[in-house]
Amino acid sequence: MLETQLKARGIKDEKVLKAMEKVQRHLFVPENMRTYAYNDEPLPIGEGQTISQPYIVAYMTEFVKLNKNKKVLEIGTGSGYQTAILAEIANEVFTIEIITSLFQKAKEALDGLGYKNIHFKQGDGSLGWAKHAPYDAIVVTAAPQRLPEVLQDQLENHGRMIIPVGETFQDLILVVRKNNTFKIEKLLPVRFVPLISTH
Ligand code: SAM
Repeated sequence: MLETQLKARGIKDEKVLKAMEKVQRHLFVPENMRTYAYNDEPLPIGEGQTISQPYIVAYMTEFVKLNKNKKVLEIGTGSGYQTAILAEIANEVFTIEIITSLFQKAKEALDGLGYKNIHFKQGDGSLGWAKHAPYDAIVVTAAPQRLPEVLQDQLENHGRMIIPVGETFQDLILVVRKNNTFKIEKLLPVRFVPLISTH
């Protein structure tokens, strides 16, 4: 996986590569999907949701430039796989999942692996988690139709957010904050599940 799916496609950050090597993806997929756990594709995790393709997890993590001093917000815990990758590299991870059964499974898996730097919340993360803001990085793993300003506002100065935006076909967008201006860059066409909003 490391050589053919990640390095060959340009993932270079050693911290990301090390985390992707360490975290075992099969621990985050349902039993009947385990044979496919290291395939180059997203997989169903129940409730109509997916665990992201390993390359996309590595790509999104690389673009938010984490290290052991950084605090990151993840919206859409899903299986908890990307949460584990973020927790390997960052100081603290705040993660929100809207679907109760997925939230419980992910929390159980991550607690079982002994992560102490992950803070969990079950609920709608479309408005972020203002209580713990600002964040050095925000990783959104479900797609809103438009870029949400409320999330940009929870970024620290020089903070970075990566987020898929659009309806059926989306673009992965990188937002970088500089004081009160936001530099927006389109990175890649992607397909993510929609960000559910109850607000
Ligand atoms: N990166 C995750 C992984 O590796 O398993 C994949 C996440 S999956 C593509 C997107 C997740 O976002 C789903 O579990 C979905 O339930 C969750 N989600 C959708 N809307 C949400 C919201 N408003 N707040 C929190 N989670 C949300």
